[in-house]
Amino acid sequence: MNKKAGPVLLNQASVPGRRGYLPPVSDLQPTAEEELIPSSFRRTTPLNLPALSEMDVTRHFTQLSKRSFGVDQGFYPLGSCTMKYNPKLLEDLALLPGFRDLHPLQDESCIQGALRLIYEAEKTFATITGMDAYTLQPAAGAHGELTGLLIMKAALRDQGELARDIILIPDSAHGTNPASAALAGFKVQKIPSSAAGIIEPDDLKPHLSPQVAGLMLTNPNTLGLFEEKILTITQMIHDIGGQVYYDGANLNAIMGWARPGDMGFDLVHLNLHKTFATPHGGGGPGSGPLGVKAHLAPYLPVPRVVSSPAGFKWSYDAPRTIGKVKGFWGHFTVIIKALAYIYSLGFDGMKQASSDAVLAANYLQTLLKEDYNLPYDRHCMHEFVLGGLKDNPAGVRTLDLAKGLLDYGVHPPTVYFPLIVAEALMIEPTESVTLDLLDSFVAIMKQLADQAKTTPEKLKEAPYTTPVRRLNETQAARQPVLKW
Ligand SMILES: *Cc1c(COP(=O)(O)O)cnc(C)c1O
Repeated sequence: MNKKAGPVLLNQASVPGRRGYLPPVSDLQPTAEEELIPSSFRRTTPLNLPALSEMDVTRHFTQLSKRSFGVDQGFYPLGSCTMKYNPKLLEDLALLPGFRDLHPLQDESCIQGALRLIYEAEKTFATITGMDAYTLQPAAGAHGELTGLLIMKAALRDQGELARDIILIPDSAHGTNPASAALAGFKVQKIPSSAAGIIEPDDLKPHLSPQVAGLMLTNPNTLGLFEEKILTITQMIHDIGGQVYYDGANLNAIMGWARPGDMGFDLVHLNLHKTFATPHGGGGPGSGPLGVKAHLAPYLPVPRVVSSPAGFKWSYDAPRTIGKVKGFWGHFTVIIKALAYIYSLGFDGMKQASSDAVLAANYLQTLLKEDYNLPYDRHCMHEFVLGGLKDNPAGVRTLDLAKGLLDYGVHPPTVYFPLIVAEALMIEPTESVTLDLLDSFVAIMKQLADQAKTTPEKLKEAPYTTPVRRLNETQAARQPVLKW
């Protein structure tokens, strides 16, 4: 089979009668089978599966796996998502038999180590972010947002203040922020960013009213810029009786240096799959722990881990809880990795990681702004946003540049986000890069800028070297073909 280099479709390679493994013949009596599966549920025609040898199947899937691209394969500077390298050792720790073989319904008396780990992770996240209490249940950042907003809603209900139904969100925000607010039953009002790319108190002022339940903010924001007026902003929201929610997706830029709790935030989610050592986009689970200040702690999901003289216990004793937001206790193995990462780096190591991430971003920003528009030309934090090519007579678009990068074996940065930058290219190198890699990325970006002038038509047809060329991404999302 398979004379061409790439994989062939399994059903095309199928040869009637060819087999891999033959399972033993069932020794159940037909009558017993009949009883197990009622005839109305039984197939009337045989399954139309391709007939292949075991080797054919192995080669097919191995070849397919080589067609994908991951952070272990090459540079992946996707902004807003922190595709950093995560130590493989942490995977081994999460797979230690004492963790791996636990059953979620095991009695508390024989899972004391796991409960202690959860307890310590909550305390550690609280220390890093300046919060008072945490839940580890949310499955990802967006789920943390929803949990936080439901907590805000429950507190408003208790105070008889349900008329507060507006959440303020900057126009640079990630789409999950307004989506979560709407899902929790709030209305969304957009706050414009200033020419400097941050929120100005004067622009916030006209939106303040007794109807405001709170503000959601990322700091640094999705332009990679630190919200310098944050203390004034959180104070303004508190003065009108609102709560301030910190979207922690960008904590990689400030961990160990600054704490959302000290900036005046009341709720914080973390994306463990961005900041704390779980591979992002690897197909496995993420985790979005949510931290709150003491006044909102009674609303946290149950059960909570509590420490008692008799050991650690699950406690459901929380009359004002919003209830459970996830089956069982959260994505435990992700939490093991996060805690191991934090303990292995220590506070100094975390500070070093975020300063290295910020340094790498500023290095790239400084070199790339020679050929690319930089709409907010200031020091950035862990990421920055370019606005397409400077010298661009042939009208080469950011999409063309992204496709062009694929031919150099680089995963493109985030494109066309945030929405407030035309032709946006959002680049986050992370701390886990070498200077050589940054320099070669700059050289590639310079070559693309050259090609945009010398051979723009060629660039507009890129990529040339990937298994598939340009796809209709809209159609792929709206009408996915999931089988052949
Ligand atoms: C990734 C991200 C989110 C959503 O987090 P998920 O873990 O993907 O649900 C929210 N806000 C910002 C700024 C992000 O980058």
